[in-house]
Amino acid sequence: MQKKEKSFGIQMLSVQPDTKPKGCAGCNRKIKDRYLLKALDKYWHEDCLKCACCDCRLGEVGSTLYTKANLILCRRDYLRLFGVTGNCAACSKLIPAFEMVMRAKDNVYHLDCFACQLCNQRFCVGDKFFLKNNMILCQTDYEEGLMKEGYFERAVSF
Ligand SMILES: [Zn+2]
Ligand SMILES: [Zn+2]
Ligand SMILES: [Zn+2]
Ligand SMILES: [Zn+2]
Repeated sequence: MQKKEKSFGIQMLSVQPDTKPKGCAGCNRKIKDRYLLKALDKYWHEDCLKCACCDCRLGEVGSTLYTKANLILCRRDYLRLFGVTGNCAACSKLIPAFEMVMRAKDNVYHLDCFACQLCNQRFCVGDKFFLKNNMILCQTDYEEGLMKEGYFERAVSF
């Protein structure tokens, strides 16, 4: 399991009046504001640390930024451009960022993989499903499993 996201924290610092103004890594001018942002070991005007895609001010959106190929991006754009949603908990293959997924607790699934793992029944919106030992189960199989001793651990309600 490797989860490598190139995310970096952003700090907002207040500028001490008696210190020499720092240069902004975005516009190369001195930062004379009362606050500056520190990210990627560089200093930035609050206005200069922006997502290369949507121009949002990263100091406001959250306190992380993402970089890839010299681009500075907000999380949304990073995931949109480069991200993957995660690994499908059923087939353990990667799910690309754009694909529709099903989510259950912390797990994500391909739409096609989201079915009872014992009887392959697919679920519709509103259907009950159960998660047991990271297996998706329909209600019938779940309840059957509960009755067979030792087959499942104690029930965990979903
Ligand atoms: Zn600047
Ligand atoms: Zn963005
Ligand atoms: Zn899958
Ligand atoms: Zn089933």
